[in-house]
Amino acid sequence: MPTLNDIRSTFLSYFEKQGHEVVASSPLVPRNDPTLMFANSGMVQFKNLFTGVEHRDYKRATTAQKCVRAGGKHNDLDNVGYTARHHTFFEMLGNFSFGDYFKEEAIPFAWELITKHFGIPAERLYVTIYHTDDEAFEIWKKVGVPESRIIRIATSDNFWQMGPTGPCGPCTEIFYDHGDHIWGGPPGSPDEDGDRFIEIWNIVFMQNEQFEDGSMKALDMQSIDTGMGLERIGALLQGSHDNYNTDTMRALIEASADVTSSDPDGPGKTHHRVIADHLRSTSFLIADGVMPSNDGRGYVLRRIMRRAMRHAHLLGSQDPVMHRLVPALVRQMGAAYPELPRAQALIEETLRLEETRFKQTLDRGLKLLDEELGGLADDAPLPGAAAFKLYDTYGFPLDLTQDALREKGRKVDTEGFDVAMAEQKAKARAAWSGTGESADLAIWFDLAETHGATDFLGYDTETAEGQM
Ligand code: ATP
Ligand code: MG
Ligand code: MG
Ligand code: MG
Repeated sequence: MPTLNDIRSTFLSYFEKQGHEVVASSPLVPRNDPTLMFANSGMVQFKNLFTGVEHRDYKRATTAQKCVRAGGKHNDLDNVGYTARHHTFFEMLGNFSFGDYFKEEAIPFAWELITKHFGIPAERLYVTIYHTDDEAFEIWKKVGVPESRIIRIATSDNFWQMGPTGPCGPCTEIFYDHGDHIWGGPPGSPDEDGDRFIEIWNIVFMQNEQFEDGSMKALDMQSIDTGMGLERIGALLQGSHDNYNTDTMRALIEASADVTSSDPDGPGKTHHRVIADHLRSTSFLIADGVMPSNDGRGYVLRRIMRRAMRHAHLLGSQDPVMHRLVPALVRQMGAAYPELPRAQALIEETLRLEETRFKQTLDRGLKLLDEELGGLADDAPLPGAAAFKLYDTYGFPLDLTQDALREKGRKVDTEGFDVAMAEQKAKARAAWSGTGESADLAIWFDLAETHGATDFLGYDTETAEGQM
């Protein structure tokens, strides 16, 4: 059975043989791109090649790109633990053409790789196309996909965009049917959110650019951008529908079970999945220079870390455990990503310190949460003031509280949370204005509110995401 490391190599060498330059993954923190918080797809490092602003000495490239989807346009944080196919950190395998080949070659390349080289039976595959894309329809027919398995989709699912601005275009997606023992419907159906029909590969026909003012223009050249989740194709080739059963994820889940002395497949199963996933995103973010903080990228990191730490706590761990999982991750992925062993000591120390600190308030915060809930009607949302107290006094990011409540089928009154936050700000403002330094500080507070300031921005996931 091929490992994820094998599959990554097969993919890259297949496209290398087709004249593609093998390019290394870019760091998770995009260089010179303030519109994006983290690399969320393979095309991010090539953005300026698609728009023609930048040129390189190759017109075809292939990569395995580190991606984090924990905010902004593509946010899968809340899917982790609940679906079989989403991670916050994953690897996207891609092939790219910069004004070189287009649809006529990109579709057969993909089809040949998955049906011939990977040996996936064609009769389990479905494809979607953008509803008006007759060209793509004809090309799929030509490679041998029956008309009944080519589904036209009119929604944004088949018009790919990296974020609110940037290169974009119609796309075609390849789905695998894992069989009717798993719940879910085909793309475009009401049950498509299930895990029976899993999207494995997305091929984007890059031909437009989206601007901030809402306008979109046609690009001078037609390009190709594709993305296939390594863990999804890996699950398939390893005989499972579930990304978390792949060799790499399984090793991390077992490490998590080991350090918490619990059963990887027992009642704590979801906790182990979340921990394994969040271990990867936090470790790779730290390796790429992000440190936990109260704003921007650092706060997204802190939120992911603390979510994982709550799940470890629920498994009964008394002492910090996340840092003890890092060696297992380095064993799995260190050869492909040397930045990981290089930063190992820093990752371990950062996780250990954060978990040590958070443990001091986590237990008391969870008790407070239970008390608050105990005093409420069964379906009443947690009052905003309580969620704010958890945030302000116990260091619970709002989404951590929401994650805790979701297990109980309950919600937070987020409007009330915002009100409590605004009151706190007003109080801070009033306190400062009594110091006689009010004029300057009033300006500072205004700037902070407009642009986001270190101390205040962190709490507000909406504001933080608005920046991406
Ligand atoms: P889905 O609809 O399943 O959420 P997507 O359409 O959002 O996927 P794309 O943006 O098209 O995903 O990304 C390209 C490929 O990357 C997908 O076809 C899938 O194989 C993989 N992928 C996307 N998101 C994730 C994730 N959160 N975890 C693991 N793999 C992912
Ligand atoms: Mg998605
Ligand atoms: Mg999709
Ligand atoms: Mg897609």
